[in-house]
Amino acid sequence: MNAVRYRRTLTALLTALIWLLWAGTSAASGTPAEPLRLLPGEGTHELSPHLRWFHDRDASGTPEAMLDRAAPGEFEPLPGGRATFGFQAGAFWFHAVLRNEDAGETRRLLVQQYPMSDRIDLYLRGADGRLTLQRSGDALPFAERAVKHRQPNFWVDLPAGQPVELLLRVESQSSMQVPLVLYTQGDFTAMARDGQIGIGLYYGILLALFFYNLILWATLRDASYFWYMVHISAFGLVLFCLNGLAFEYLWPNNTWLQDRSVPVSICLAQIGMQQFVRHFLELPSRWRRADFVSLALIAFFVALGIAALALPYRVSTTLASAMVLPSVAWVAIVGVVVLRSGYRPAGIFLSAWAAYLLGTAAYTLVAFGVLPKMFLTEYGVQIGSALEMILLSFALAYRYAALRNENERLVQETNEKLEHKVAERTAALSEALERLAEVNRRDGLTGVFNRHHFREQLESLLCDSRTGHRNLGVLMVDVDHFKRINDSLGHLAGDECLRKVAQTMRDTLEPFGGIVARFGGEEFVAALPGCNETRALEAAEAVRQRIAAHPIPVDGREVRLTVSVGVFSLDAYPIENPEDALRRADEALYSAKEEGRNCVRRAGA
Ligand code: GH3
Ligand code: MG
Ligand code: MG
Repeated sequence: MNAVRYRRTLTALLTALIWLLWAGTSAASGTPAEPLRLLPGEGTHELSPHLRWFHDRDASGTPEAMLDRAAPGEFEPLPGGRATFGFQAGAFWFHAVLRNEDAGETRRLLVQQYPMSDRIDLYLRGADGRLTLQRSGDALPFAERAVKHRQPNFWVDLPAGQPVELLLRVESQSSMQVPLVLYTQGDFTAMARDGQIGIGLYYGILLALFFYNLILWATLRDASYFWYMVHISAFGLVLFCLNGLAFEYLWPNNTWLQDRSVPVSICLAQIGMQQFVRHFLELPSRWRRADFVSLALIAFFVALGIAALALPYRVSTTLASAMVLPSVAWVAIVGVVVLRSGYRPAGIFLSAWAAYLLGTAAYTLVAFGVLPKMFLTEYGVQIGSALEMILLSFALAYRYAALRNENERLVQETNEKLEHKVAERTAALSEALERLAEVNRRDGLTGVFNRHHFREQLESLLCDSRTGHRNLGVLMVDVDHFKRINDSLGHLAGDECLRKVAQTMRDTLEPFGGIVARFGGEEFVAALPGCNETRALEAAEAVRQRIAAHPIPVDGREVRLTVSVGVFSLDAYPIENPEDALRRADEALYSAKEEGRNCVRRAGA
């Protein structure tokens, strides 16, 4: 401990010696800072134009030595008029002289508007030469602040008409940004209130979006909404930390957590963002290689997020902040490519991303000291991200609508296909039924109607005849001595003969409008709608003659057949039912057989 103190004192002495030598040669070129005059009616003063700075690289300078250096003008004016230096090691000293000419305001509040600085020591030296020290920064518990505000602050006593020297030492793992503002109590209250409204509005939008997406996720179970929620929450947390609100409200006494929260939540926000993009733009199916890049980025942020628990704040935050730009740029590239491939929700997605990209780029460039700190760059992240999140919620809604329309289209298409198929099957089925019915109506051997169908047809013809006063003839035809054919030529030859007889009857009775059926065995029957007795006898005679005149060729032989025919007609004998008609025709046939076969007989009275 003593050795350290000894070394520090030695270093300070050496520094002072070197400085004295150097000061002797260069004092003439130095420009001491103009004192800042605090006039009545001016309640807010930005200190930057009146500040001079010095980079104490090994953080070993004492306030006395620094005051001695500052007086002759060896501190430098701020680069570009702004106290923004990026991530820096060592301590930064800032010096200004204040002269209060307002007897009514002898106490003002000095506010460091960048809340992430670790250690801020304020030294004040009044006219009496006494040096006082106040400390702030997020390495100290929140309760130790002069005013309980998210930005570190100090009360400065400024007796009227007397100069007060202000020396501020800042040492921090975070970005070196020291935008100092001096407020009267009244102006500070007004500023704090306005700031609070802006912040409340921003986090209000974030919360609303969070719950909106939570509800959508809970109902739709689409992973996009979940990752979007992770992104919003983690991104909100990053800003909550950077605004100094997390330290004020979430962990006012936990300086360890305060240091870890920024890099960890940056990583979490990036993981959420990349996962959201993968799901929203359907990368695994649309662009497989790009999906691997996104997964690699996610792996990097997961590893860094875990490592950030152990790494020094500067290392983890610098790495995380540096990777935010390529990560966000990658999202923009993927968005453009997927949009150009024709995926329409990517359009809104890209405009949202442009807003976010600009805001984040601005903020990161300020952190690295490339861009000056001003309203648009400081609040660019808030403005850009609020716009982004609102637009992305629209994009999610649009994507949902697109998915729903696609689903409806698919359902309709499937329904149409199904209906078409059902219609096709129904037609095929009714055709099959029709064929089956037709088969049921026909006789298997000869192809003419069967007895059952003939009975139905005859019944309906009798009905028609009765109502329409139409005639109807019925023929009963029996092959003569058919048994002999079977006996001499065989059953198959007999079958062939039966087919031929049926065919001849069909051909002959067609001009008479006849309906021919096999009645059983070698016996056929025919109905002749509209035929009176004369015409029915004519038809019967035509059948008999044609069969008798045309021998049937079977197995190279000619088989001569004759038939006997019984004729019944409605004009000659009115009857009640089909059975009567058939019975009478059969009686006539019996007569024909009796009278020598191969002849036609009409039904007797
Ligand atoms: P008739 O002149 O008196 O009618 O003498 P027929 O021999 O024709 O009469 P019968 O009723 O005695 O004999 C009919 C024969 O017809 C008996 C049977 O073998 C034959 N038959 C019946 N159905 C079929 C068939 O489907 N195929 C064949 N090949 N023969 C049949
Ligand atoms: Mg017979
Ligand atoms: Mg017979």
